[in-house]
Amino acid sequence: SPTAQIINGKAIADSIRKEIADEVKALQEKYGKVPGLAVVLVGTKGDSATYVRMKRKACADLGIQSFSTDLPGDVSEEDLLKVVADYNANEEVHGILVQLPLPKHIDEQRILDAISLEKDVDGFHPANIGALAMRGRTPLFTSCTPKGCLELLKRSGVAISGKRAVVLGRSNIVGMPVAHLLQACALPFIIISDATVTVVHSRTPDARAICAEADILVAAIGQAEMVRGDWIKPGAAVIDVGTNPIPDASKKSGYRLVGDVAFSEAKERAGFITPVPGGVGPMTITMLLSNTVDGARRTFEKAAAG
Ligand code: NDP
Repeated sequence: SPTAQIINGKAIADSIRKEIADEVKALQEKYGKVPGLAVVLVGTKGDSATYVRMKRKACADLGIQSFSTDLPGDVSEEDLLKVVADYNANEEVHGILVQLPLPKHIDEQRILDAISLEKDVDGFHPANIGALAMRGRTPLFTSCTPKGCLELLKRSGVAISGKRAVVLGRSNIVGMPVAHLLQACALPFIIISDATVTVVHSRTPDARAICAEADILVAAIGQAEMVRGDWIKPGAAVIDVGTNPIPDASKKSGYRLVGDVAFSEAKERAGFITPVPGGVGPMTITMLLSNTVDGARRTFEKAAAG
């Protein structure tokens, strides 16, 4: 059997970034203003500082104005809320991102709830997630990684309507919004998919048999290579969101990243598959930039309409 078409997330993200850069220019010509994104980093733990640096650089590359606040790891919840409130009020800021996870002493829900709905470019505000889950509603923003998964499918020409989709994982950040996007129905929703969706989680018996029926399989569980080749329906489209470090003595860092899918086995059965790295990863920041430009366009249009 022929091996899968590898979905090149880096190349797709690069072409979307060109479209976004053109849009930024067009907005600047029309309204004399540029989109602005505020990125708030608390502490210096884990990969957060790296992600934040990548997000700020990506803004600069595309002509998006970047606002930065770095707070110490022991910052108080009140002080962080004050930073969010200031960005909510700042007319040059169209998107606010507070990098997660936050330190334990801060109530993450309270911070996410405080971000203005119109600037919620991460799409984590419960009102945006609620709209995503409701028929006939259109969220102002949908979260970046799920949106990136859908873009990869669409831009690879994968048919979604009427297909069986299985999502592994049910987190607020990836699994659930991906499931909602895959089953999203007609207008006024921004993404129309019409798949029949099953969500698999840690209490699901026989995940393998369920996955084996999927025309579209999205894996977002954080379990290194758990999805084996024989879980894949021949010809299926496989989107691997997982990024799991595993020890690798041949690397300078001592580890390498693998997905939730055993890539070399799966690519012998799948019709389409994303690699890790270079699949979903590059799309996430790109969708953040796209959301920021969407927010800015809405604001500029509203102001112009008076
Ligand atoms: P979470 O840990 O929040 O959620 C994991 C989900 O997977 C849960 O719903 C859990 O089930 C389910 N799960 C865990 N183990 C199993 C299992 N053995 N069988 C079936 N289901 C299982 O993770 P996230 O959603 O935040 O992230 C998932 C993965 O995606 C991670 O590897 C993360 O690094 C990666 N990621 C990548 C991004 C990118 O840009 N490429 C962005 C965000 C995440 P239950 O609900 O029952 O606990």
